[in-house]
Amino acid sequence: MTQTSCRFCGAIVDGVFADLGTSPLANSFLPPERVNAMEPFYPLRALVCGNCFLVQLEEFETPEAIFSDYAYFSSYSSSWLEHSRSYAEQMIERLQLGADSHVVEIASNDGYLLQFFHERQIPVLGIEPAANVAKVALQKGIPTLVEFFGVQTASSLAGESSADLLLGNNVLAHVPDLNDFVAGMKILLKPGGVITMEFPHLMRLMAENQWDTIYHEHFSYFSFLTVSRVFEAHGLRLFDVQELPTHGGSLRIFGAHADDPDKLESDAARELRERERAAGYERLDTYLGYGRRVEADKRQILSFLIGLKEQGLRVVGYGAPAKGNTLLNYCGVRQDFIDYTCDLNPHKQGHFLPGSHIPIRSPEAILEEKPDVVLIMPWNLKDEIVAQLSFIRDWGGRFAARTPELTLLP
Ligand SMILES: [Zn+2]
Repeated sequence: MTQTSCRFCGAIVDGVFADLGTSPLANSFLPPERVNAMEPFYPLRALVCGNCFLVQLEEFETPEAIFSDYAYFSSYSSSWLEHSRSYAEQMIERLQLGADSHVVEIASNDGYLLQFFHERQIPVLGIEPAANVAKVALQKGIPTLVEFFGVQTASSLAGESSADLLLGNNVLAHVPDLNDFVAGMKILLKPGGVITMEFPHLMRLMAENQWDTIYHEHFSYFSFLTVSRVFEAHGLRLFDVQELPTHGGSLRIFGAHADDPDKLESDAARELRERERAAGYERLDTYLGYGRRVEADKRQILSFLIGLKEQGLRVVGYGAPAKGNTLLNYCGVRQDFIDYTCDLNPHKQGHFLPGSHIPIRSPEAILEEKPDVVLIMPWNLKDEIVAQLSFIRDWGGRFAARTPELTLLP
């Protein structure tokens, strides 16, 4: 086996956090013409660094292959749009942003978030590596650069395009070269400017057994302690943090230049560091026992699904998120358990899930075929989906979701 060096500190990483076998890239949905072709599988193994406690994947595939034709369009989730709108309002107020400010978003997707600044006449710039997604943003009038973010991109923009607010949601965990990315943020941030980043919180992943959020595109899994060390190494300081319910429990971190005298450390930042320390997030053994819980969870999921099938129930899925693909492939669940899944995103409909080859249909299929159980894949959007599909109860249909045990919902 090849040795992996830590993405952040360079130490040799050999502690295993969770071994999920082998799996295709979670977002590589298959069109019908490729369903009988060979499909690449890669090891899906999360390791933990014994020096800085960064939980991370082994490197295995070029990032271009992961991000160049990304099928995920953020605007399709209404709760995520609402989350973004309220974030924009909060930041405009907190940082007193106006026509003289500049807001830069890294991995700006289809402009779903920047539109809320743009409509308030605040100048914005999106940086998005997936050309097909960036095109949608440009059509909405959101200036967008098709680039990966790092030192090189930041250096070419710094000066005229430096940011008063530099933000990135669900990107920090997805960058292969973490140091280059954070060093780039240091370059692009104006003196006195603020960085905000959102990413799933490792503490919630472990506490609520969210191992299905481990997938190939998701390279790093952060505690607040470790992410603080990463920013410090690049002359930045995390002075505030918010714990958010999104994606099963995320952190929104607030960073500034290390020497910015106006950004005092908040009580929330101090309290979370203490809580993580007390919970053992600076001790290797805290991480090394996690794999046993993942294995136990797999047995529970399979027992649950076997139970449904032995009662002769028809089970279908709802949603086609990356976490669903991790779960199905790790557990070896295919059409033997789940007839098909449904997704609102027309770009996914008519395709097949990677690995499991479960077909993706329009949600109307549920109304037509009246299945007995609808298994909700994106458990973080469970309440929204239950409300949208409440009509399944008319024919006695039930919902199932991970809560974190896979179970029928009341
Ligand atoms: Zn390390």
